[in-house]
Amino acid sequence: MIKKIGVLTSGGDAPGMNAAIRAVVRTAIQKGIEVYGIHDGYLGMYEGRIERLYRKSVSERLGLGGTFLGTARLKDFAKKEVRQIAIDNLAIYGIDAVVTIGGDGTYRGALALSEMGIHTVGVPGTIDNDISGTDFTIGFDTALNTVVEAVDKLRDTSSSHRRCSIIEVMGRNCGDIAVWTAIAVGAEFVVSKETGFDLQAIIDNVTQAAKAKNHAIIIVAENMVDVNWLAKEVSEKTPFDARATILGHIQRGGRPTAKDRVLASEMGYKAVEALLNDETGVCVCQRNNQIITMPINDALGDDTPPVLEKYKVFKVLW
Ligand code: ATP
Repeated sequence: MIKKIGVLTSGGDAPGMNAAIRAVVRTAIQKGIEVYGIHDGYLGMYEGRIERLYRKSVSERLGLGGTFLGTARLKDFAKKEVRQIAIDNLAIYGIDAVVTIGGDGTYRGALALSEMGIHTVGVPGTIDNDISGTDFTIGFDTALNTVVEAVDKLRDTSSSHRRCSIIEVMGRNCGDIAVWTAIAVGAEFVVSKETGFDLQAIIDNVTQAAKAKNHAIIIVAENMVDVNWLAKEVSEKTPFDARATILGHIQRGGRPTAKDRVLASEMGYKAVEALLNDETGVCVCQRNNQIITMPINDALGDDTPPVLEKYKVFKVLW
């Protein structure tokens, strides 16, 4: 029977992580279990930066962006001897189970810990929505709304100046932010890993748009193409003057939306329940509006089809 739970956030921060920590803390305490915050993810576990959390420790945190426990990346956590030091630190506090909130890298760390005897449950906290087991990750909805708001603002200026705005958004290996945004703002074109990059198609679409309207919007997922170069090409080959904007880390910040707060709360609750049910090496997912758990291994696969379904809608509506 689990007696003491640790909780950490790891990888890129995401709005709603605080709400998830709060849910873990309050659920654990309500079930009579001590809970400990591990600072800066696996780095803090390795360095032994661990503190007891109480109901009050998570007061006034629910609606705040970022993560009050801090987050970090520690490549060496893939090494067994590094994880062993981290596990020894957990033992000092008597912690036998950990809730890890983060992306797929964080899940890999959780799986590796569970293989060494620590009970682990992963909670998907990443704005990229790139974890295949779950329909949504915590932070995606907030980031999407942030991006849509930014693009709406860029549209105001690009239509006043008869320009094409090219906007680079996050989503390293997953085009969800790009494609969802493209639908939500009525963009002319979207470029992501799933949709591919086709310069001529962009030139054609923007040229066509220039006949009917006084601006065009192109959404580009990061790592696909140099948006400043693309702006030059569009300026030279279409009637529009094009400008590139890289939204960058602004997409990770801000207060979580109500949807992310609720998702984070439900998932944090479920994570503790799973640990109490003796589950380990699993992650919490939202599937068809149900909060469930599944083996982490099954959640680390590829999950492009839902994006492509959305892309079909985009192509009809643009
Ligand atoms: P995001 O999607 O926001 O980038 P992430 O969780 O995928 O979040 P990563 O930097 O990939 O972010 O992973 C977070 C941490 O998880 C790493 O810094 C490392 O400490 C740990 N980790 C990643 N891969 C492994 C692995 N194969 N084995 C053990 N630990 C790992």
